[in-house]
Amino acid sequence: MPAAKKTARRRSAIHPDLATLLLTEAQIKRRVRTLAKEIKTAFGDGEFTIVSLINGAIMFTADLMREIDNPVRLDCIRVSSYGAKTKSVGTPSVIASITLDITGRNVLLVDDILDTGKTLNLVAALILKQKPASLRTCVLLDKKSRREVPFQADFVGFDIPDKFVVGYGLDFAERYRNLPCIGVLRPERYNSGSA
Ligand code: 5GP
Ligand code: MG
Repeated sequence: MPAAKKTARRRSAIHPDLATLLLTEAQIKRRVRTLAKEIKTAFGDGEFTIVSLINGAIMFTADLMREIDNPVRLDCIRVSSYGAKTKSVGTPSVIASITLDITGRNVLLVDDILDTGKTLNLVAALILKQKPASLRTCVLLDKKSRREVPFQADFVGFDIPDKFVVGYGLDFAERYRNLPCIGVLRPERYNSGSA
């Protein structure tokens, strides 16, 4: 079978709406494991509090936490989403804030993807207002070329190009979060009512 046909078959076996497969389930799994080791080196054996940005970081957080054997607390924060769009517009706002007391605690903020930087800037500022002992940030994906406000995560899983990606928690209009891999969504799906 010609290589192109084989690749096309492999892609459609993952999901027909993906134009390109960016990261396989195995690649993600391997990197999550090494990221957990990096985090462990930074935090030592002590307890820390994970603050996860839902819904996007839900899978990443669940997998990352299981690779960390420190005592950890978990809280979630929900920030306004893209909705059925592929670019962030305006300023993000917090829809549901954390409930744990993080004053004097070591905090790890976890998100799926760092894009313009607006979301993490906002959330990091809110967390810092509560005077944690320390704040570090971990993102699975980083689209460095898209940054509009300066923000650097302490732990980055993968640097990726400026493409709209879905899977492994990342959505388009709330779909595709359950894909075990990460891929570039076919542009024709953006405008399709059934996307
Ligand atoms: P920022 O505020 O850095 O522009 O955007 C961060 C948020 O935008 C992420 O938490 C994520 O929800 C969303 N986002 C940015 N790029 C992508 C992408 O390629 N795919 C998906 N599904 N969401 C994205
Ligand atoms: Mg998000």
